[in-house]
Amino acid sequence: MPHDGDDFVKPPPDPVLRVKVLESLLIEKGLVDPTAMDALIDQYETKVGPRNGARVVAKAWVDGSFLEKIKIDCSAEIFDVFGFQGRQGEHIIAVENTSNVHNVVVCTLCSCYPWTVLGLPPVWYKSAPYRSRVVEDPRGVLREFGTEIPEDREIRIWDSTSEMRYLVIPERPIGTDGWSEEQLSQLVTRDSMIGVGLVKNPVDFAVS
Ligand code: FE
Repeated sequence: MPHDGDDFVKPPPDPVLRVKVLESLLIEKGLVDPTAMDALIDQYETKVGPRNGARVVAKAWVDGSFLEKIKIDCSAEIFDVFGFQGRQGEHIIAVENTSNVHNVVVCTLCSCYPWTVLGLPPVWYKSAPYRSRVVEDPRGVLREFGTEIPEDREIRIWDSTSEMRYLVIPERPIGTDGWSEEQLSQLVTRDSMIGVGLVKNPVDFAVS
């Protein structure tokens, strides 16, 4: 393809605009039903979302046999227990953080992500810098998220594919003995289930 002087390096038009144009084309050609599209977006942005994952983590913290099962086949187990299922929800396994290992999830090739438990992937997850840098320099990338992992702790990177997706089970914070699953789930952030963040500090949550 010939280069066209300086025009060649012009940034592409606003992605939002491009998406709108694509969407109107698809609707105009009768390829998608706009109501179905709105329902799908709403489903993953607001209803599914990371709250599902937080409930899975909270249950894993209180129920050791559930934890063992989701480490083998998370998709099957969360369907049995919570009824969670849906697109991009197949072949999920849980990876558990311990005092020796901190797990981080990426998709180096594109943007594979466990929608059923985390909702739609954040923009940075799909970005080229995250996808390449987290593999080369995990500690540096985590530091940019404000997450410091002790030097003596191994960082394990899990590369997602359409064949296998991962859900990080963060460590249960101390000081949460006797908390209900509902209370525990409030501590679990989306980023802690990707591995770039940690759970919230229980001290900030008054338990009534
Ligand atoms: Fe992918």
